[in-house]
Amino acid sequence: MLFPSLTTQPSCEGIPPLTSPLSTSTHIIDIDTLTFGNDFASLPPAHYTRLQPTPLPSPYLVAVSPHAAALIGIDAAALQSQAAIDLFTGNDIPDDAQPLSAVYSGHQFGVWAGQLGDGRAILLGDVPAAENPAASGDNNINVPHRMELQLKGAGLTPYSRMGDGRAVLRSSIREFLCSEAMAALGIPTTRALCITGSDQMVLRERPETAAVVTRMAPTFVRFGSFEHWFYNQKHDELKTLADYVLARFYPALQQAENPYKALLTEVTIRTARLMAHWQAVGFMHGVMNTDNMSILGLTLDYGPFGFMEAFDPHHICNHTDQQGRYSYARQPQIGEWNCFALGQALLPLIGTVEDVQAALRIYKPAFAEHFMDLMRAKLGLQTAHNDDAALFDHMFNIMQDSHVDFTRFFRKLGELKMTAPGEADSVRDLFLDRTAFDEWALQYAARLQAEASDDAARKLAMDAVNPKYVLRNYLAQTAIEKAEQKDFTEVARLLAVLEKPFDEQPENDHYADLPPDWANDLEVSCSS
Ligand code: AMP
Ligand code: MG
Repeated sequence: MLFPSLTTQPSCEGIPPLTSPLSTSTHIIDIDTLTFGNDFASLPPAHYTRLQPTPLPSPYLVAVSPHAAALIGIDAAALQSQAAIDLFTGNDIPDDAQPLSAVYSGHQFGVWAGQLGDGRAILLGDVPAAENPAASGDNNINVPHRMELQLKGAGLTPYSRMGDGRAVLRSSIREFLCSEAMAALGIPTTRALCITGSDQMVLRERPETAAVVTRMAPTFVRFGSFEHWFYNQKHDELKTLADYVLARFYPALQQAENPYKALLTEVTIRTARLMAHWQAVGFMHGVMNTDNMSILGLTLDYGPFGFMEAFDPHHICNHTDQQGRYSYARQPQIGEWNCFALGQALLPLIGTVEDVQAALRIYKPAFAEHFMDLMRAKLGLQTAHNDDAALFDHMFNIMQDSHVDFTRFFRKLGELKMTAPGEADSVRDLFLDRTAFDEWALQYAARLQAEASDDAARKLAMDAVNPKYVLRNYLAQTAIEKAEQKDFTEVARLLAVLEKPFDEQPENDHYADLPPDWANDLEVSCSS
């Protein structure tokens, strides 16, 4: 079994449709009128350090996400101004912003790493969210009233340790594109507003240029933020942080008999559902350390991520992860492990080990239920059936044996005709072992017939959940190489394609192509 302990469960809600950006007429067109608060700064000073970003020389705009801008009521055109470029590079900070970097700790690759913190991210503050934050794709998130704006790569902080406080253009483009691609796929995620760049050189494996990516989320509090206070035995600060998170982001849970247990339960459910989303779209995060796990259940900290291509459940997208701790197949278990780390940290507030364990017990069923729902939707199945787990396992096995491209398989599967599942020029052609496909397809077709499925209606439904376009590494790499030559057009073009991942977009067909041979040599590591 590739996915241990899968059980069939009753279905729950699916992915809501994405709304388009608000009408530009209501949007801020002059960035100077953006007003900042900083709710996080209302926490005691031990939780952060106030500081100013370090300016970068002669910054320029690299990319803007109009959808992300709409979430905070900004017109994308306003981000073209020099004032906006200076603001989002950290070169010119408005008086009402009180920039700070937050402290946190965490487990890295399963080992307690001690204090980490925002080593290169500086929180500018928060701004009012526009009316329809559902466009963020956060289908399981309370409607946020404010969005925090954070500059990643804005210079040294007290938490920089051995780092230089900078982010390179390459990794900034990857984070920017993937944040927005995930949102468009309906997967909870932090957002990316824009990237600014500078010719200042930064040394990684090779010299690269610096950039700043402006990220947005209701909060960037992580599991590691709680672990920090637990391991420092500062239970007052632990409680202050938990109360802050409850009041702002989970107000309904404050009424629970044990609000901290309710918080752990809710975060465990969101994390389990997030893992189900990742597995269902073939997304691999690459560095699922507890300092990269959002307390809101958002995908957070895009580094050496990847989307599954030739299916291999043991695929490791992060070249630095030699043990494969964060391989595709392990993500659901690691998500649970991380919830245990959070549970440990919340133990002094929750009270008893039994209560912590009771909260964590929801993880497996929450994952299984959501994963099964998502898989049924991907296969166009309208009803749940006892044999579904076996059908999916069989499918993953033959995909693995034939190294079938994950995204293309599900998209093409929508074209399958129930009465002729093995016909040529179809999904069958993706398989090296066509007999194996035929065997599976017969079971699948029988299952479809049993629920009186309609080919045309099913294709429509499947196309709405199986993306045609995902951020393949080679697509990101092509945009990065052009951007490093100061041609930013490909970043914008790719963003536009990824904003509509389920649309056919015939003019952009080539963005759905399989990776070219040169992409075999692409290695993505923690270096960013
Ligand atoms: P990450 O692997 O990106 O989640 O980062 C882990 C920790 O290292 C966090 O505390 C980051 O802020 C810090 N970090 C990563 N890169 C840098 C850098 N270039 N300068 C300072 N701190 C960094
Ligand atoms: Mg991180």
